[in-house]
Amino acid sequence: MLIVGAGPAGSWAAATLARQGARVTLFDPSHPREKPCGGGLTRRALEKVGPLLAATRIPAVVIRGATFEHAAASPSPYTVTFPLHADGPYDGTLVVTSRAEFDRLLLQHAVDAGARLVPSRVLNVRTDTTGAEVETAEGTWRGRVLFGADGANSLVRRRVHVPFRRHQLSIATGFFAHGLDHEQIRISCVGSPPGYIWSFPRPGHLAVGICAQADAGASSAELRELTHDWLVNRGLAAGARLERYAWPIPSLPERDWRTARAAGPSWMLLGDAAGLVDPLTREGIYFAIQSGEWAADALLSGRLADYQQRLSDELVPELRRAACLRDAFFQPRFTRLMVEALAGSRRVREVMVEIMAGTQPYRGLKRRLLRTFEFGLAWRLFAMQFGV
Ligand SMILES: Cc1cc2nc3c(=O)[nH]c(=O)nc-3n(C[C@H](O)[C@H](O)[C@H](O)COP(=O)(O)OP(=O)(O)OC[C@H]3O[C@@H](n4cnc5c(N)ncnc54)[C@H](O)[C@@H]3O)c2cc1C
Repeated sequence: MLIVGAGPAGSWAAATLARQGARVTLFDPSHPREKPCGGGLTRRALEKVGPLLAATRIPAVVIRGATFEHAAASPSPYTVTFPLHADGPYDGTLVVTSRAEFDRLLLQHAVDAGARLVPSRVLNVRTDTTGAEVETAEGTWRGRVLFGADGANSLVRRRVHVPFRRHQLSIATGFFAHGLDHEQIRISCVGSPPGYIWSFPRPGHLAVGICAQADAGASSAELRELTHDWLVNRGLAAGARLERYAWPIPSLPERDWRTARAAGPSWMLLGDAAGLVDPLTREGIYFAIQSGEWAADALLSGRLADYQQRLSDELVPELRRAACLRDAFFQPRFTRLMVEALAGSRRVREVMVEIMAGTQPYRGLKRRLLRTFEFGLAWRLFAMQFGV
């Protein structure tokens, strides 16, 4: 069994397989390394990895609150703050870790279970109906099945399927602001490009960034400038050491999910390589872990087709709904209403906490919003979705 990429998807798949006695070879030359990422683990991700985090006690920030503001509002940004529940050091609504620490932990978990790490870059892969081949500078490996868990720039995806096209990616860019500390997530809705600037407190620094569709016309430099201005305007830049990052995030439009494939006769794509990221919240770690587990389960059961089926039945419908809502969600008309509703309504705040925890599905969101009695908000979201 060959796995390219030891991020959350690849390491979790490797651990699941190796625990059941499968022979697993995992290729990744990058560790230890930081990954451009908020590092936010939602409640559903914590249900998977919480016990492992608790056993090893890696540094993590338990998020105690979130601040939402509308940066475009005049005369001054309109801000609302509300608490997120935290029940313990590695559970609650949202926990943020360094990806260097988190990914190292998952990789160690896989190696402890019996997976073999080859710390080499994969240069090429080949598959046919009988098996797969992986080539590195040191040699060639053969196996029955190949897992492509090599992220948004996946080489495996390019070789066995089709590369992501530009309109299927967004670019996230910003700064790690070292030396800054905060207990809250900050979300600042902006109109151009439509979306939000985020600030996530991580151990020792803030991860601050913005995301825009790759084909939207804004360059990485322009986007980074926006986050820099945001840091300066809030008095956060002085005294911080700013380290730049930019990284693609798969963000498939709804129509592309109808034909998306994540598996063939001797290959499976996992996590980012399969495009499994929520295009609204950019949550991808949970999807990476869940897809790694399902791919491993399908292989262990000998029913490879189960993998694609479970993705199509259980994950893709929600990602399609998120893709439908994205454009409406990021419109200033909507975000202004949303920030006002957050300020005025405890029930809307409860819904938002659950969206951030990954426990409020997009299916049923309209009904849930209607039950908050914020009819304007519910109506605007769903009217804009249909271009009204
Ligand atoms: C700025 C930003 C903020 C984000 N914030 C969050 C967040 O707060 N919460 C959340 O849940 N998600 C977030 N995401 C998404 C999340 O980072 C990804 O969805 C997640 O890391 C996907 O995991 P993965 O294992 O599929 O891929 P990755 O984590 O990208 O891992 C891929 C691995 O493959 C290796 N690799 C690549 N090519 C090769 C090769 N040729 N040979 C060998 N190895 C290779 C890489 O070195 C890497 O270790 C964010 C993303 C970005 C860019």
